Amino acid sequence: MLTIGVDVGGTSVRASVVDPHGEILETNRAPTPATSAELNAAIATTVQALSDRYPVAGVGMAVAGFVSADRRVVRFAPHLAWRHVAVADELADRLGLPVVLEHDANAAAVAEQRFGAAAGARVAVLVAIGTGIGGALVINGEVFRGAYGVAPELGHLRVVPDGRPCSCGKRGCWERYCSGTALAATAAELVRGTGESSVLATAGLTGVEVARAAEAGDPVARRAVADLARWLGEGLALVADVYDPEVVVIAGGVSDSAPLFLDDAREHYAAAVTGAGHRPLARIRVARYGDSAAMVGAAALTREHVVAGARHLT
Ligand SMILES: [Zn+2]
Repeated sequence: MLTIGVDVGGTSVRASVVDPHGEILETNRAPTPATSAELNAAIATTVQALSDRYPVAGVGMAVAGFVSADRRVVRFAPHLAWRHVAVADELADRLGLPVVLEHDANAAAVAEQRFGAAAGARVAVLVAIGTGIGGALVINGEVFRGAYGVAPELGHLRVVPDGRPCSCGKRGCWERYCSGTALAATAAELVRGTGESSVLATAGLTGVEVARAAEAGDPVARRAVADLARWLGEGLALVADVYDPEVVVIAGGVSDSAPLFLDDAREHYAAAVTGAGHRPLARIRVARYGDSAAMVGAAALTREHVVAGARHLT
């Protein structure tokens, strides 16, 4: 059975035909329009170009935003035009296919747990590190959403009381110390605070540039990366104390630089977790799917939804 996974992002809508093994057969994309009606139309057109040529059984949509508990309505998505729009039903009517909606981090976690870095793990946590931290949790194959559909907000665990201010209104959140943004902030502090020479003193300071400078051996950039590794390990120890996962999957743009920090992060994690030295440790792995994870996961959830529905009817 083939299904389509759609990643509805702030700049583009991508749709892929995905097979039952999590392999992408073909991808189609379009720019993300500015209004809700145009967005629905763009998704329908992008999907139809594929469903005309492949026998697909349903469509899964991954959205970076707040999805209602019944997963039919997008309540709010900061980078999209939808505000309380019954996206799943509107597109199901339009396409004549079942449509499943899912938060993008949850969909990505499903892709990794079904086919990727956490394949077969009973308890898997996905930590997507980019400008902030997105988190998702899969327990016994099911996405854990909490009672009201907002769990887990891992990025806003407070790791430093009275620490760096966060856009959420609190201070000292994990993502202020462990993200691409944090890497740039730490490097800026180090450049200001030390007289050491660094290419970062003259270059612009983005997380990517700091990572590149660290790869090239710049000492200040390396210290900024070491700081990120420490906070990644410390934060994962908190996550492990709550969820005791088998596998933690590191995803997001910052995971591209994982060779720079992952071994260090594993050491900090192993030292900081409760019962260190006396318990099995979660395996910490880099995501398999990169930026197609949410599409593959949404397609897999849709396949499972269609199969469960068919079983229900017989
Ligand atoms: Zn926060």
